[in-house]
Order: sequence, then C-alpha cells, then structure tokens
Amino acid sequence: MTRTKVALVGIGKIALDQHVPALNASPDWELAATVSRSGTVAGIPAWTDFATFLAERPDIPVVSLCMPPVPRFAYAEAALLAGRHVMLEKPPGATLAEVHALEALAKAKGLALYATWHSRMAHAVAPAKAWLSDKTVEKAHITWREDVRKWHPGQDWVFQPGGMGVFDPGINALSILTEILPKPVHLTRARLEFPSNRQTPIAAQLTFSGNVTADFDWRQEGPQTWDIEIQTDRSTLALRMGGNVLEIDGKPSAGENTIMGEYPALYARMAALFRTGACDVDLAPMVHVADALTLGERITTDAFDF
Ligand code: NAP
Repeated sequence: MTRTKVALVGIGKIALDQHVPALNASPDWELAATVSRSGTVAGIPAWTDFATFLAERPDIPVVSLCMPPVPRFAYAEAALLAGRHVMLEKPPGATLAEVHALEALAKAKGLALYATWHSRMAHAVAPAKAWLSDKTVEKAHITWREDVRKWHPGQDWVFQPGGMGVFDPGINALSILTEILPKPVHLTRARLEFPSNRQTPIAAQLTFSGNVTADFDWRQEGPQTWDIEIQTDRSTLALRMGGNVLEIDGKPSAGENTIMGEYPALYARMAALFRTGACDVDLAPMVHVADALTLGERITTDAFDF
C-alpha cells in the first residue's frame, strides 16, 4: 500500500513523544518533512519557515500541526489556502470562532480538517460509551490532577493568554465526558485558581447540569490521577488512566493500561478523512472551557514558576 506523505509542524514535546512514533509505526503515513523554528527529527528533511515549505513541497498533501493553540490558526489557514489537508492538535484553536472559520474554509475547498481529541481514542472510551448508552446518569465526577512541570516542562505558553492553563489537560477529560454521556450537560458554576503571577488558571472546580462535577489541578506531584466516575441507575462506571481502563462496580471490565494507543488511532482516523476530504470538528469540549472562563469565579493563589 502507498503511504501518504505528511509534514509535522512544531517539533516539540508532543511531536516527539507521540506523533513521530505513531507515524513511524503507521501503514498509512510517511513522515516526509518537518517544519519548526528549532526542532528537527533525525533523517527527515526539515524546513524552518512554513510558507517556504508549502511552496517547495506541493507533493506533501497533509500537514499535522503540533504547536501550541495560539499560533496554530495562521498555520492552519495558510495550509488550507495552499490546498493541504490539516490535522490539529488539541485544543483545536485559541478561540471557538477561529476553528469555525477553519472548518468553513476546509469545507469550501473540499479538504479534510481533523480537530483531534487524543483522549477520545483511549482504549476504554468506546466501551464506556456503549455501556452508558442505555443507562440514566445520576451523578458523575471527574478528577484530573497532574504535575504541570512533568507534562509541560518550562512551557510558559500554558500560562499566557490562550494557553488555557489547567484546561489544557482538563479539556482531555471534557473530550471524554462529551463523547460518552448519553445526554449533554452544560456548565453552571466554576471556581478558577490563578497564580498571582500568571494569566491562566492552575486549578479549577466545575459544576455542570445533571449532577456532574470536575476537579482539575496542575499541582499534583507523585502518582497522577485521570479518573471519571459515573453513577447510573443500575451500576457505577469508572474510567481510569485517562480513559484507558474501564471498571464496572470496581471490577476491571475493558481497556488497556497504556496511553500509547491514542495517537496511532488518531492517524488512522486522519487517513480515513484524507481519503474522502471530510471534516471532523467537534468543539463541545472547548465550549465547556470557554463557558468556565466566562462564568468562573477568580481566586488568586500562590505564584507559580517552573
Ligand atoms: P511545546 O513543546 O511547547 O511546543 C511544540 C512546538 O511548537 C515547539 O517546540 C515550537 O517549535 C513550536 N512553537 C511554540 N510556540 C510557537 C509559536 N509561537 N509559533 C510557532 N511555533 C511555535 O508544546 P507541546 O507540549 O508539544 O504541546 C503542543 C500542543 O500539543 C498543545 O496544544 C498541547 O495541548 C498538545 N498536547 C501536549 C501534550 C503534552 O504532554 N505536552 C499532550 C497532548 C497534547 P519551534 O520553536 O521549533 O518552532
């Protein structure tokens, strides 16, 4: 089978941790170029300027954008205008409106646009969704507590406007919640903790309709917690390990205790979208984040430095 050429743009932590291994193992894709101001991948032709890359490599039909959300729109728009299919890291943009604009542009040009949510590809998300489909949710709680220094070492952009702070990981939990709940919920209250020297929250407590709550915290050292617990009219479901392990009434029921299946699944989905020129853009997780930042009560907490 011929593999489709793809360029990775923004060679940093997630490109090297997940995109490169997923592409190297994929039957669908050939990593044909990188574009990054300083990052490279050994053995892969590299460009530092995106416009030059687009002009010089018309043979590469797909670009996968791995930089932080704020600069991503300009890259995505330029790629679509140059006739390239586009895959977006999560969160898909800095604002909802800019992602709507990208989707309209992609549709007008018949190009694939994929707003990825890697946590939706975790091993136990599809089984959890199927299990919940004929049940009534009585109560749900998300605990998403991790160490920002481990996952975003020295990345000041997460605390700058548009970086979303603790919602950068929290949106992964919301991407699962919005995928598996049989009925949608909406945010009713938020309490956001901002370090005194930063522009985005380091912790958030959220309340939604339907008796759903969430606790996001970026200050957890030691073991990391990515759990969603849902009480239904019949039994209790727990998704652990960021959606990779499913428990029903405390007993393991499905999944695999590894995050390494998520990016291969994203690239398999992108291959299908590329073949048909279709868009997959679901902004439901980002709507909850925008609502929390709109409605949230602001608490000032200790200064934070990496
Ligand atoms: P990162 O390492 O800080 O950034 C990735 C690369 O983007 C940088 O190495 C940089 O490459 C480029 N970049 C940064 N600022 C830029 C700018 N203003 N203009 C153009 N390029 C810029 O961040 P990351 O952790 O990989 O995260 C990137 C995206 O992946 C985020 O949306 C994040 O939510 C998502 N993600 C991250 C993780 C994680 O564990 N860190 C997990 C899943 C998803 P050059 O300097 O070489 O241009």
